[in-house]
Order: sequence, then C-alpha cells, then structure tokens
Amino acid sequence: MIGFNYVSYAQDVIFAPGALSRLRESLERFGWQRLMLCTSHSMRAEGQLNKIASILGEGLVAIFDQIRPHVQDVQARDAIALALEKDVDAILGMGGGSPIGMAKAIGFQLNLPIIAIPTTYAGSEMTPVYGITHTDEDPPRKVTVNDPKIVPSLVIYDPELTLGLPPTLTASTGINALAHCIEALYSKTHNPLSTAAAVEGVRHIHHALLRCFQNGQNVEARTEMLLGSHLAGCSLASVSMGLHHGLCHVLGGAANVPHGIANGIILPHAIRFNVDATQLILAADSMGIAVNGHHSTEVIEGLRQNIYELIRQMNLPQRLREVGVSESDLPRLAEIAFHNRTVQNNPRPITDVTQLESLLREAW
Ligand code: NAD
Repeated sequence: MIGFNYVSYAQDVIFAPGALSRLRESLERFGWQRLMLCTSHSMRAEGQLNKIASILGEGLVAIFDQIRPHVQDVQARDAIALALEKDVDAILGMGGGSPIGMAKAIGFQLNLPIIAIPTTYAGSEMTPVYGITHTDEDPPRKVTVNDPKIVPSLVIYDPELTLGLPPTLTASTGINALAHCIEALYSKTHNPLSTAAAVEGVRHIHHALLRCFQNGQNVEARTEMLLGSHLAGCSLASVSMGLHHGLCHVLGGAANVPHGIANGIILPHAIRFNVDATQLILAADSMGIAVNGHHSTEVIEGLRQNIYELIRQMNLPQRLREVGVSESDLPRLAEIAFHNRTVQNNPRPITDVTQLESLLREAW
C-alpha cells in the first residue's frame, strides 16, 4: 500500500550556462537591495568574486570570504555580527556546501532570505538543512539544523562557474551528490518525487562525473553533472538521511575529514550495510547494471562495485587510514556515531556500537 508524507518548498531555480548574468534581474524581482556575500578564499583567486561584485555594484554591502570547511560556530558568530553591522537584507552563499551552509546559518539567526549559487556538486542549495561545528567541544561536534526558513529562495546554477573546479573536488563532491541519491532511495521517508529525482540523478551523474574529472573544461559534461547534482539535491531535500550521511558528519566534525572525501570512503560500505534495501536496484538500473533475472543482493553488490571502481578511477582516497584517521580513533568515532541522530535513522537498525566499529574498521 502506498503512503507518504513530505514537505516541498518555494524556490526560484534558474539553470543554464551563463545564468549568473540573470542574478541582477532576479534580485530586483525579489526587491533585495543590501546583500552580503559568503564565499571561500579560492573564489577570490578564481576571479568569481570580482564577477559577482561587478554584477551587484553598490548592492553588495558586505563580503565574508574566508569561510573554512564544515561551518564553524566561531566564524558564524563573526559573520552574523558583520551582517548586523551592515544592515543587510539578504545573504548570498556562493561556492560549495560550506559557504552556502554559512549563508544558511546567518539567515537562520537573522531571519533573512538566502540566495545560493553552487559551484560544487554538494547540493546544499536545495535543502532546509545546514551543519554547524561546535568547536569548543572536544572533539569538535558537527550538528545539523533543519528548518524550512533556510531553504534558499533563489538558486542560480551556472555550469560555467564549475569549469575551474579541480579534479579532486569534482570527484569528491560528485560522489557526495551520488550519495544523496543512494540514501534518498533507501531513506525511511522516501516518496515518489525523491525516488524519481534520485533515479534520474544517478543516471546523469553516472554519465557525466568521470568525464568532468577527465576534462573539467567540457561544458556539456559539466552541465549534465550539475543537472545530476541538482536532482540529487532535490531528492535529499524531502527525505531523512541515514548511516552514510551520519558517518560523514561524524568524520567531518570529529576527525576533520573533508566532506566529499569522507563520502568516497564511506559510500561503498554504507551500501554493503544496507544491501537488503531493494530500492537500490533502481540505482543499479540507472547505471546500466543488468537487473532482470538477477537476485537483488547480486545486483546491489554490482552497484557497490561500480561505485567503488568509479571512486578508484578518480584517485580518491578509499581508506580512512589515508586521510589522517588512526586505528586507535575508531572506537571513539564509532561511539560518537552510535549517538548520532542521522546514523540512527538508517533503515537497517543499528542496535550495537560494534556494528559501527566493524564498518569503520573495514573502511580503515
Ligand atoms: P566546500 O564548500 O568546503 O568547498 C571545498 C573547496 O572547494 C573550497 O576550498 C572552495 O573554495 C573550493 N571550490 C568550490 N567551488 C570551486 C570552484 N568552482 N572552483 C575552484 N574551487 C572551488 O566543500 P563542499 O564539498 O562543496 O561542501 C561541503 C560542506 O557542505 C560540508 O560542510 C557538508 O556538510 C555540507 N553539505 C551540506 C548539505 C546540505 O544539504 N545542507 C549537502 C551537502 C553538503
């Protein structure tokens, strides 16, 4: 029997090569006049910051461009103080999930609308969620805030802004997008729209990601990959995540593993743990894996191997030991993960911390 419950959001989404040129007319439509831009240092180096500044002119009244990964609470406090001082009326996050997360953190505290211009494939622009890292705890802990008011009101996808995304970030944030689709498919709260978006997301990501990695200047592949990440973000927006995303947050907050890198290491293990989730057959089908006449476990193992191979071809780390996690950290990380809400939301119940410790050992 079918039954579902999800929340959808009002967002103005513009997607096209060159779409950045439509930013000004969109702002006029919304009536925002005093913008604060959140971005990371490399956006200045890439010349993107100058582009935005010339489009916005006097409408850009504040810039916070030193955003570090994983939205740190101390930085959020400084950014909020700047927004108040400059009396801004909207926050623009441009870059990856970190600047967009920072824009959400400010918008949440000050009740301001958010504009997102993504330049990676992380997908935060479509969701009502951000993660913030409490740096005064030992180890630092990343917690998520979920509120409909932080869904960006305006999202501009311009594939031309992604041409300079370096191969490793292309690969790692692309795998993050793939992971959104995988977890959306087996989510406890999956619904017809999240499933449709996830299935199409997997198809586009599978077709485009490796080509973007091999040639970042390929506008056609970049456009298809950004479309895949948009669909991945759509699927993520209306469902709750599980083991995979929960573990990546723990590794980001407590072990400072970059989010996309954690995704590449954990995803094959999360799929193996959830091998009974038959919805994953849809992802295998989207990747062109033979499905008919095969047992679901065999099909899902094929999906896992395909993804593992894709991660290997893009030279991403495949083990926690390669990214600064020591073996002695594993019990502590497993313990933190055991108490993580998102981990505990996994469709296959996690009843004992040793389940997590053995998964982390396999990934180590
Ligand atoms: P990021 O935002 O930390 O960016 C990583 C690096 O990429 C930065 O150095 C940045 O300057 C650089 N960069 C970004 N775009 C570039 C471009 N076009 N060219 C050159 N360099 C570029 O990384 P991310 O993986 O995009 O985001 C990760 C963060 O987002 C994590 O904190 C994660 O938890 C969060 N996230 C949130 C959601 C959500 O729904 N809220 C979804 C996915 C990720």
